[in-house]
Amino acid sequence: MPSSILIVEDEEPILELIAVNLEHAGQEPWRARSVAEAEKLIMAALPDVVLLDWMLPGESGLVFARRLRADRRTKAIPIIMLTARADERDKLAGLEAGADDYITKPFSPRELVARIKAVLRRRAPELTDDTVEIAGLRLDPVAHRVAGGGRKIELGPTEFRFLHFFMTHPDRIYSRAQLLDAVWGDHVFVEERTVDVHIRRLRQALSPSGHDRLIQTVRGSGYGFGSSA
Ligand code: CA
Repeated sequence: MPSSILIVEDEEPILELIAVNLEHAGQEPWRARSVAEAEKLIMAALPDVVLLDWMLPGESGLVFARRLRADRRTKAIPIIMLTARADERDKLAGLEAGADDYITKPFSPRELVARIKAVLRRRAPELTDDTVEIAGLRLDPVAHRVAGGGRKIELGPTEFRFLHFFMTHPDRIYSRAQLLDAVWGDHVFVEERTVDVHIRRLRQALSPSGHDRLIQTVRGSGYGFGSSA
């Protein structure tokens, strides 16, 4: 599944270079030439990663990073700062503003793609293509296949996304609201009770191999996944 990468960069050749390389790497680049343009895109939909140039016309990337971190809706989006500044003090300022990583220009596109993957893996493991396996339950996001004890398990698309999120975030408890955000994305208005319906379906699908026991219900709080959730 391609990840949406919002590139905020005012230098057109660099913007295009990054966008083309991301496309080749199977990602979905969104282009913004200023903070104002970036905000318009973010208003419509949240990207999976923001690649943010430091020096921009109008508001700087640094100030924008701080604003993204302060907003409940955007605070979890991984941010990678792009900059010509290699100064140690500037790096610290970027990281303090909430950036997850830092790339100094000039950079190799290959390195950039690798760093984006690393940040995604760290911040949002359900967005990577890695196969995950827990207690004999195996989920392959590329082939869109799930197997329990070596036998194929059929899941609907929402149950698949639920399971992928759970398997990449084991041993933690999530409220229904958090699960809605994680699985449906924001800007989607779904009743919290819908979560229970999909969890029930997921349990049914996992029960033949006994993996339904990995789904934990915590009364009043929500759901978790894994042997110690
Ligand atoms: Ca710039």
